[in-house]
Amino acid sequence: MKLFAIFGDPVAHSRSPLMHNSVFKNLNYKACYTRVHLQDGSKLRETFFALKLSGANITVPHKEAAYTACDEVRGFAKKVGVVNTIVNENGKLIGYNTDADGFMFAIKEFGAMKNILVLGAGGTAKALCTKFIDAGIKVTVLNRTALRLAYFKELGCSCFTWDDFIIGNYDLVVNTTSAGLKEEILPCPLELAEKILAKTSFAADAIYGKETPFLKLSKSKEITCKDGADMLLGQGVLANELFINYELKTEDIKKFMSKSFEL
Ligand code: NDP
Repeated sequence: MKLFAIFGDPVAHSRSPLMHNSVFKNLNYKACYTRVHLQDGSKLRETFFALKLSGANITVPHKEAAYTACDEVRGFAKKVGVVNTIVNENGKLIGYNTDADGFMFAIKEFGAMKNILVLGAGGTAKALCTKFIDAGIKVTVLNRTALRLAYFKELGCSCFTWDDFIIGNYDLVVNTTSAGLKEEILPCPLELAEKILAKTSFAADAIYGKETPFLKLSKSKEITCKDGADMLLGQGVLANELFINYELKTEDIKKFMSKSFEL
């Protein structure tokens, strides 16, 4: 029996255990997926080994700590320095990032994007912005502080804090901050959020499982929007394939993960 887990703080809200266990149970794969509340990201590696895990997902706020916890980081995760999936490969921790592809899957229905505003400058923002720039999309990043903006400037994004923001026109605004996850707060001051929402066609939130104040405000302005559920599904399917080394069919994984959303 293989054991998998999600590490995060908070982590109680995470749907990942339901999603992955739905796949394992329905496809008779001998594995189980649990959640671990981890406050200190520097303890990730030792906790992973103490629990004898075969793999893990990493959520807020440990995705950058997860990068340093790995013995080797592959593909897109290496480029962005952000890991959301770890696989135990013969005692070595191998890191991947499936969030960005999960998000691209989620926004397909909005059509082609030319101009995206990203709220937040954390691990998820890094992954998404890098993917957008790679896809030739013009990206603006708005964060409450300037501390984490250097990466985004280097990447070629236009970067602002709340104090120096120069607004533009956007196809999509994405909330990648954790504002709205635990507390009922907007990712930026109300006045700014209202101005931004007047300049966008679509809005998306990485947070799932609840209507955040950001989504509520978007809906009140009659903007087509979506929460992070499809992103979660997209990243989860890709992570599951890595966990079990592609032993199950993608369509079957997707089918049973989607079913878990009905629970
Ligand atoms: P990080 O901790 O790496 O980054 C958080 C970001 O949010 C930082 O830019 C931080 O700003 C900003 N922030 C935090 N609190 C506030 C606040 N009160 N007001 C304004 N900005 C704030 O988190 P992650 O990037 O790992 O995750 C971000 C969110 O995305 C989480 O809610 C997570 O659940 C969600 N997520 C969902 C996924 C899905 O599959 N649907 C996948 C990945 C993430 P500062 O730099 O100033 O501290």
